[in-house]
Amino acid sequence: MCIFAARDWKNCATCEYWVGPRTLDDRQQAAEADGMAVGACRLQKGHVRKYATSSCYHWRRWSRLGGTPPAGAAAGRPASPVA
Ligand code: SF4
Repeated sequence: MCIFAARDWKNCATCEYWVGPRTLDDRQQAAEADGMAVGACRLQKGHVRKYATSSCYHWRRWSRLGGTPPAGAAAGRPASPVA
């Protein structure tokens, strides 16, 4: 199980459009998902199947994640950890 905080990861696991096996951590600040979990992207035509670790420029912060969205989150930056 991997923990993906939207603050650090702009990937499918933290994206509003992903429908796959994930949960929230206790503080509701991060998504917990298996790195190899596969789900459907509701945004892309045909609901393309994507790994939790996939990403794209249409990323949108999962609305169930609490806290204040980081600067640039709405712009949907690609997945990358913040150093
Ligand atoms: S492919 Fe892009 S829009 Fe679709 S769930 Fe993943 S990050 Fe979100």
